[in-house]
Amino acid sequence: MAGRAQSGERTPRYRLYDMHCHLDRIADAAFVARDAEALGLALFCAPVCPDDSERAKRILDTCPNVRIGAGLHPWWIDDGSCNAEDAARAASMAARSRWVGEVGLDFGRVHTGSRAEQFEAFKWICQTCAERAVDGRVFSIHAVHAAGEVLDVLERFGLTGHAACVFHWFSGTSDELARARRLGCYFSVNEMMLATRKGREYARQLPEDRLLLETDYPPKLDTPCPADQIAFALERTLDQLAGLRGSERAELAALIAQTSFRLLDL
Ligand SMILES: [Zn+2]
Repeated sequence: MAGRAQSGERTPRYRLYDMHCHLDRIADAAFVARDAEALGLALFCAPVCPDDSERAKRILDTCPNVRIGAGLHPWWIDDGSCNAEDAARAASMAARSRWVGEVGLDFGRVHTGSRAEQFEAFKWICQTCAERAVDGRVFSIHAVHAAGEVLDVLERFGLTGHAACVFHWFSGTSDELARARRLGCYFSVNEMMLATRKGREYARQLPEDRLLLETDYPPKLDTPCPADQIAFALERTLDQLAGLRGSERAELAALIAQTSFRLLDL
């Protein structure tokens, strides 16, 4: 049971929240999830394709600190691992789920060959979610050289008004960032983002109540990544964010945990 803070707001159950990781593609995922629980760490697991979403549910559904998204990553469309049939499955899974991701568009040079297929799949997922509204829905979104197109689709289907749209590792232009902020999007920040000058500049500007932490771990899919490695990465990201923003670390940590708790209901 979640407690109650003095303000009347419910108290987050966890100390740290990883709002975008690929827990299902970490070796011994269920074991890592249990370790994470002991460390006070909750995770949004963002599968990359419908098969992975189903498998993640099988192995992680009983973990009290894990939310599992319905996902279809643009790279899996681009390399031919997923086709239109998978997009239809992803859309139907997303429509029935409160948690959606990793989904999105990647129009970086190496992935533009699949631009049309990516666009169709993302539109399809967003349209089916719009047709079947779920309270408190959260999207974890990949957008590379495509933040404007992602926002066009989200806006067209009214999702920015009805769901928490979280840009994972935002790397768009400053105009796109301003637009995403106006539309009420959230932003999950990781160490790779903070390794770039642009990422640090964005991290300074992001509204405090839209700010989230993530790792995008494991660094390499299907390899080990212990829970404390995830927790340390989140702590380092928090340290850096507090420094960049001139914020009191404990206050920023509490605010980010509160926002994450509200989105994940964990
Ligand atoms: Zn990811």
